[in-house]
Parts: sequence; structure tokens; C-alpha cells
Amino acid sequence: MQCTMYKYTLEKKSLKHICPKCGKKRFVRYVDQEKKEYLSNEVGRCDREVKCAYHYTPKAFFKNRGQLYEPIIINKDLQPKSKKGSSFHSDRDLQDTLMDYDKNIFIIYLKTQFENKEVQKMIQDYQVGTASYWYNSTVFWQIDENKNIRGAKIIKYNHSGKRTQYINWLHAIQLKEGKISSFQLNQCLFGLHLTKKYQKTIAIVESEKTACVMSLLFDKYLWLATGSLKGLTKEKIECLKERKIILYPDLGKVGETASPFEQWKVKCNEFEKSGFDIGISDLLEQKATSLHREKGYDLADYFLENRNKKPRKIISTHQQKYIDFYLKNQNLKTLIDVFDLQDENGNRINL
Ligand SMILES: [Zn+2]
Repeated sequence: MQCTMYKYTLEKKSLKHICPKCGKKRFVRYVDQEKKEYLSNEVGRCDREVKCAYHYTPKAFFKNRGQLYEPIIINKDLQPKSKKGSSFHSDRDLQDTLMDYDKNIFIIYLKTQFENKEVQKMIQDYQVGTASYWYNSTVFWQIDENKNIRGAKIIKYNHSGKRTQYINWLHAIQLKEGKISSFQLNQCLFGLHLTKKYQKTIAIVESEKTACVMSLLFDKYLWLATGSLKGLTKEKIECLKERKIILYPDLGKVGETASPFEQWKVKCNEFEKSGFDIGISDLLEQKATSLHREKGYDLADYFLENRNKKPRKIISTHQQKYIDFYLKNQNLKTLIDVFDLQDENGNRINL
């Protein structure tokens, strides 16, 4: 758990000082939140944004004095908002993002791949939002099984559905804008709030995008995301102990020392030892080509590319039973074709 806050913020009281540039009493000074005192009296912002626009930032101040500038305070005990020490967003924060889907680049992309109605359902389930004020990015809310709103990760995509380097968090934006003074981010799995609604097998992937896309391609599983490779922790899956879980790691890059599969395999074994009903899929690892790796394919990309391929030859009558059943569902056929699937006895179905 981590508490992050800005060390220097503009004073929140309506107290105004004399502006060093224009001389009007419209000047807001910066406060050192750790020492609870003002910085030097020329450090601040004039609120006559057009006519004066004076703004001397703490960053510039420390730079000019040749001093080290440390803008962030981490792991300070700053009035946690709940007993567990996690901060939560308000329902209002959430609702404010559930709009502007015609501007949301990721959603626009999804609508080129899927039926509008399907995409709408996915948005409603996962509560995917839009940050139109921040590059028309996509907001992935982390809502836990008790409906606490733990965090909101904001990611900008390009028009072919690929993630860009622009990633932010709503609480970071709110801190910067002075709307809140501290926030203790305690992340949970993306999609966790759906575990009470759907009693399906849980499939865990790395990225939020993959979870969204896979839920559209294959809704026999409930798709959750860790948010990052290192985001798969025992603490995060503890509440899923009674459920059947399958991990679907992403593809590793060429030359990487330990692939995502290898890293998650180690964790999978640990979780299994401590009583989880958990398995891991290695078929993407086996089937992906070096080209896929070079292109940085994730599970969703791979699936989208393979979803229209015909199934390969059926090799046993035992499997025919599954094929007949599964062929009724085109998405499921794709999943068997590209990935492993287990039958009710836990045996892998091979095509
Ligand atoms: Zn001024």
C-alpha cells in the first residue's frame, strides 16, 4: 500500500497575498505540506491568469537555488480515509466518467471489431469510462467485491487499439488540481466487482484492455486483469479462493530473461500450494511466433487475429462431443482452437 501526495501545493484557503509582479492582492502561495509552512514569498501563482499570469513554481524555485527538488511525499501516514488504510473514490467521480463514448478512442476501436450492443454491455459490466479532458483516454475503474471504488487508471489508446505511453490515475489528477490533499491507493483486480454477479470460472490476464476484449470474445469465463505483470499477488486474489481460476499470461518480448508465462507459473505454483484452485495456460506461449513477440502481441491481439480461422482436424470421438457442443458457440470454438480449454474432469481438450 502506498500513500502519495504532493509536497508543495497552492494554499487552499481563499487567502490572497500581494503579487510580486502586478502588485494586486490576487497571489496564492505554495505551502510545504510536510512542514506546514509557506515557501519563500515569491513562490506562488497570481490568479489574474490573463492580465498577469505570474507563476513561480517550487520546481523552478529549487532549480534556481541549485537545490534538490522532491515533489512527492510517499508512505506518510496522512489521515487515511478508512480503517484499512485505503482511500476510495466517490460514486460521483465514477458517474462523471460514464459518458462521451463517441470520443473514447478505445471504445471507438472496439466498435470497429464488435457489435455496438455487445460493446455497450461490456462497458456497463466493467464500468469503463472516458476521460475526454485527458486525450480522450479510457478510464478503467478498480471496484472491489464490496463495491468500494479503489482507483481509476487512465490509459490513452491509438486508433488501432494499441496502448500509448500516456497512463495516469484519477487520484493523481485530483491531487494536482488540489481537489484532494492525499490518496492511499490500494489496488484490486480490474473487474473484481463482477465476481458476485457472475459465478463463472475466473480468467486472469495482465491488461485491462485484454480483459475487456476477451469478455467480448469469450463470455464463458469472467475476465479480470491485474493491471501489470507484477500486479498478480496473493493479496489481490485472496477473495477468489473459492473460485476456479485460470491465468492467461501475455507474450514475452524477444530476449527477455523470464517470460510473463514463467513468472506467473512460479506464482501459480505458490498459490496452488496455499489452497487455490488455480491453473495457467501455456498455449499462447507455445503457439506464438517470434513475429508476434516482436509486434508485442497481447492475448487480445492474438485472439482477434485468429478468431476467423477454421478449426483444425478433429482427432478423436471423445473430442467430437465437445466439438458438437462448442461449435454452437463460435467464440468458444476459437478459444479451443487457439488456446487450451479443460473439460469438466480438468483434462485439456486438444483439437
Ligand atoms: Zn499578478
